[in-house]
Amino acid sequence: MRLDLEEMEQFPTNKIEGFRERIETMFPTMIEHRCSEGCRGGFFSRVERGTWMGHVIEHIALEIQTLAGMETGFGRTKETKTPGVYNVVFSYTEESVGMFAAESAVRIAEALISATEYDVEADIQKMREIRERVRLGPSTGVS
Ligand SMILES: [Zn+2]
Repeated sequence: MRLDLEEMEQFPTNKIEGFRERIETMFPTMIEHRCSEGCRGGFFSRVERGTWMGHVIEHIALEIQTLAGMETGFGRTKETKTPGVYNVVFSYTEESVGMFAAESAVRIAEALISATEYDVEADIQKMREIRERVRLGPSTGVS
């Protein structure tokens, strides 16, 4: 997905008061994300030192798919030639679930930035439903 951070570009995670605490509280299992550090808790230390929101959104999109029972471990975020615009790439097991996860990850990041409540469990449940619909749908050729 192509992501335009707009004003978020000015705010790496270390410039947002309490961001690390909030993301850790919302997703304690993200401790398993090694990220480029290559060790347990690697992603959280990147957040602590300051990373861009595109990168955070990539990790959230992967994590909510894992929590929904669709483990996928690949993600990359690259800045484009336009400042603040990123290409966020991550794997998915079902395309429609992946698309939902991308949109959900953006909303979650916004909630984490502004310290507002977000019902992550509702989105995870929705992803499970999408998966079931895809699996049971006529396109899968179930007869
Ligand atoms: Zn990472």
